[in-house]
Amino acid sequence: MSAAPEAYLDVVARIARATQAAGRAPGDVTLVAVSKQQPWDAIAPVLAAGQKVFGENRVQEALARWEGKAALLASGGLILHLIGPLQSNKAREAVAHFAVIETLDREKLARALADEVQKQGRRPRLYVQVNTGEEPQKAGILPADADAFIAAARATYGLEPEGLMCIPPADEPAGPHFALLAKIAARNGLKKLSMGMSGDFETAIRFGATSVRVGSAVFGARG
Ligand SMILES: *Cc1c(COP(=O)(O)O)cnc(C)c1O
Repeated sequence: MSAAPEAYLDVVARIARATQAAGRAPGDVTLVAVSKQQPWDAIAPVLAAGQKVFGENRVQEALARWEGKAALLASGGLILHLIGPLQSNKAREAVAHFAVIETLDREKLARALADEVQKQGRRPRLYVQVNTGEEPQKAGILPADADAFIAAARATYGLEPEGLMCIPPADEPAGPHFALLAKIAARNGLKKLSMGMSGDFETAIRFGATSVRVGSAVFGARG
C-alpha cells in the first residue's frame, strides 16, 4: 500500500492546528474530502490512509464513482456528503446513498426528502444551505428567509436539520459570511456548521466550522 499522500496529511495537520488555535477540542472539526471530478488514482490513497468522509456535488457522478464500495458504505466505513444542488426528482437516490445532504434550500425539496424518508425508512442528516452572499446564480435560502424555512422544515415536513452550510462569494473575504452563518445557526438552535474550502478552511474553523469541505488542497486541481 502506498504511503498516505502528503497533501492530505498536510490538510489534516492544518485542521488540527487551526482547531487548537481557536481553543477548540481536538476532533471538533470533520474533514469532508471533496472527491468530485477527481480521478480514482487520487482518491484511493486518501481512502487507504483512513479518510472516511467524502463530499460529492452530483448524485449520478457520485454513484458511478463509489458503486464498487457498497459494502464499505453499508458498514459506515465510508460516509458520503452531498454538497451540490439537489433536484427534487433525485431525492430518492440522494436519500438512498448519502449519509448527509447539505443542500436543503427550498420547500419543494423538503417535501421530496420527507416523502423519501418515509418510504425508505432512512434518515440522512440534513444541512440547510444559506446563500449568505445573496448571489442570484447560487443555490441556498436567503438569510432573511432562513428562520422561517428552518421552522417549516421542522413543523411542516418533520425534518430535523442538524446544521447550516454556505459557500461565500469567491471575490469577498469569507469571514463575515462565516460569522453570519454561525449567527443564523445559533438563533435557530443548530449546532453544526459546514463552511470553509481549500482557500479558507482555517478562517472557517476560527468562526466555528464543525466541518470543512476541502477538495483541491487534498487531491490537487480538478481535471
Ligand atoms: C468543489 C466544492 C468544494 C471544494 O472546493 P476546493 O476549493 O477544491 O476545496 C467545497 N464545497 C463545495 C460546495 C464544492 O462544490
